[in-house]
Amino acid sequence: MKLIDGRAVAEELKNSMKQDVQEYKKKSGRVPHLAAILVGNNPASKAYVANKVKSCDQVGFNSTIIKLDEDVAEEFLLSEIEKLNNDPDIDGFIVQLPLPKHIDEVKVTLAIDFKKDVDGFHPVNFGRMAQGLPCYLPATPYGITLLLERYNIETAGKHVVVVGRSNIVGTPISILLSRKSKMGDATVTLTHSRTKNLQRILMQADIIIAAIGIPGFIKEDMVRQGAVVIDVGINRIEEDNIEKSSRLVGDVDFETVKEKCSFITPVPGGVGPMTVMGLMMNTLKSAMKEVYK
Ligand code: NAD
Repeated sequence: MKLIDGRAVAEELKNSMKQDVQEYKKKSGRVPHLAAILVGNNPASKAYVANKVKSCDQVGFNSTIIKLDEDVAEEFLLSEIEKLNNDPDIDGFIVQLPLPKHIDEVKVTLAIDFKKDVDGFHPVNFGRMAQGLPCYLPATPYGITLLLERYNIETAGKHVVVVGRSNIVGTPISILLSRKSKMGDATVTLTHSRTKNLQRILMQADIIIAAIGIPGFIKEDMVRQGAVVIDVGINRIEEDNIEKSSRLVGDVDFETVKEKCSFITPVPGGVGPMTVMGLMMNTLKSAMKEVYK
């Protein structure tokens, strides 16, 4: 078994990105700028945004966090989005999900100018991705393809089984890997909570991509010898000890599955850091006007 070290690949990418950013600054006289809107006090969301800001510092981007209260009115959030849409200094921005229940996430996603949608969630980017047109790829699927590429994991002709059909991971990665492209040409089965005989389907997979949100869901008896396993899940487990500490685990039962597969991503340190890189790559593309003029 070979560990896919997302943290190390992300560092490599940051180092090469730093040089691209320097060149861009020299040529254009400006600095790429990413903004993030953070609503409420969800500790995981705060940590994700802090990570993104740290990565901006590392590669030489400017970053701005707009913090809004948990009970912010939807209208106010939409007006903040509009400001960012119209701010020429902002190359791209994200609204960290999940949002409080009283806010309509679809409305929020649609309010973001697709030319600044560096998370790649807007239906214009999603549709363009599906048709193989220039777009901002959704950050996590983008990160996964970069990892597969970096480890020379062939996707052409392979059977990929994706577990989970969310709009941000499962559905877009299944489209991306099945398209006629460098990191595509796979035969993809997209499975979900209503799938029957999941274990039988998984046993036919050359590559498994798990994005479910259930700790340790993928067990050893669901993985074929030599398969590649990409674990997208990030689940916080509370430890039953005096300190009441917690730890992060994926959707794959790492300790047993690792014995069977050829490659596996750890949690943390696998897909997570690459999601941030997907976001950073999209932001630089936006600054350089590589996708939209
Ligand atoms: P989600 O939470 O929106 O949906 C879960 C999906 O799992 C659904 O499509 C559902 O059909 C499927 N599912 C649920 N139970 C199932 C079962 N028994 N059998 C088969 N499928 C089942 O999905 P999401 O937003 O993609 O998140 C999934 C996980 O990935 C979460 O742990 C999330 O925290 C994590 N995540 C990680 C990153 C990262 O950068 N590593 C990015 C996004 C999400």
